[in-house]
Parts: sequence; structure tokens; C-alpha cells
Amino acid sequence: MNKKLIIGNWKMNPSSLEEAKDIANKIRLMSEGLRQTDVVIAPPYVYISSTKPKEESGNFFMGAQSASVDPEGAHTGEVSAKMLKDIGVQYVIIGHSEQRERGETDEVVSKKISAVLDTGLIPVVCIGEKTRDQESGAHYDFLRDQIKQTFASVEKKSAKDIVIAYEPIWAVGATEPMAPDQILETTIFIRKVFADLFDPKIAKKVTVLYGGSVNFKNAESIMSVGKVDGLLVGRESVNITGFLELLRVADSLQY
Ligand code: PEP
Repeated sequence: MNKKLIIGNWKMNPSSLEEAKDIANKIRLMSEGLRQTDVVIAPPYVYISSTKPKEESGNFFMGAQSASVDPEGAHTGEVSAKMLKDIGVQYVIIGHSEQRERGETDEVVSKKISAVLDTGLIPVVCIGEKTRDQESGAHYDFLRDQIKQTFASVEKKSAKDIVIAYEPIWAVGATEPMAPDQILETTIFIRKVFADLFDPKIAKKVTVLYGGSVNFKNAESIMSVGKVDGLLVGRESVNITGFLELLRVADSLQY
């Protein structure tokens, strides 16, 4: 298995810069001791420069929570992928459900992926169904369409550089994550659609994360039963005690 990847999506947290620096510093120190896990923090834009370590740090990387479709110009409130790269960002979350909720379509997500890839950064592309109907399996049709539309603009040669974050929307910000056996079943399906779209070899290698109500207590079963390459963690990523324990658990797992 490749190195595991744990990404902390800080959302619009914490409420002060001092706290942000403290959390980032503790995560970086912990990351230095991990043997088989890469750790990414994605703070709000305004905290990125202050939370980035002064020197390169082996398995600790900076992320951002979105990026503009455009490279520059009259786009008030937007931040380009190039600007993010210039301040040391390597991973960019694209198509998060909270952005889609505010109107981001698959088409926009697709353009953002291209903007991020063209800049040489790694897009962490969120996909996931709003509801799940185990009997009809309609969520599989939804996911197939979403994957096809979302990755429409990606060339085959770039597909391997993508990180897919499977985040069933009903499990994001919820009390319980998706059951680990369902995570396994669904991520196998996602790889299959990816194989049809690009290539079976790429689909086998592409990094697939799970996200949605992950915490230090459920991380082990999600990773070992769900057999994902890592996690996209929201609320628990700014709960420093819980997140450090989650990193320890993730790093200790062999599967
Ligand atoms: C997220 O914001 O990507 C997320 C998964 O949130 P939470 O872990 O809080 O459900």
C-alpha cells in the first residue's frame, strides 16, 4: 500500500490566528514522527502563510479549501491556483459539498480541477451523493453521472495526479459516518467508473479518501474495513487532541 493521506479541512475555523498557529504547529510536530502517513492541513486562505512551516517538513503539507477557475482578473473575492502555489500550497480541495451548496456546479468543479492541475497542484476532488437508497441503488447512478461530469475536462495523463475524496453529503457534519463496509463497496464502484473513464491501471492507483464525520474513534474501522487510502477530516481536524490521536491511529494501521 502507498503512504496514507490524511487531510484536515479546517472549514472556517478556528476563530483566531493564534489558535490556528498553535494547532498547525502541533500537527506538524506530530507529523514528523509518522512513518507511513502524509498530513495536509487546509486552513482558511488568510491563515495559510502564517501556519506554513518556515522550512520544508517531510510529510506535512499545506492545502487550500478552493481555488478560482480563472488565473487572474476582475473576480472579487476569488483566489487563483497560482497565488496558492506561490505561498506554498500543494493540495487544493475542489467541489466540497459546502461549496456545491452555494451553487458550485459539476461544470465549475471540472474547470477548477483543470486550473489546479495546470498550475501543478494536486486537486482533492470531493464527490458524493445527497441521499442513499440502499434498495434502489439510485446513489450509484448519481455517482456515475457526477464522476463523468466532474472529470470531463481531465486528460488521461493527469488523472493519476488527482485525489478523490468520497464524501457522502448526508454523512458530512453529521453524527455518524457511513458504515465501513458501505465505504468499501462504494469506493470499489468509484474506482470502476474511474477505470471506464480513464484506464484500469490509473483507477487502481488513484488515491481515494473517505470523508464524513470521521473522528479518532471511528478512523480505524473506516480505514481498515473501508480500505481507503486516507481520510478527509472536517470538524475533528481542529480538535487538536482528537486529530493527533487520529493521526497516530492511521499511521499504525497495516492493510
Ligand atoms: C468535511 O468538511 O470535509 C467533512 C468531512 O466534515 P466532517 O468531518 O465535520 O463531517
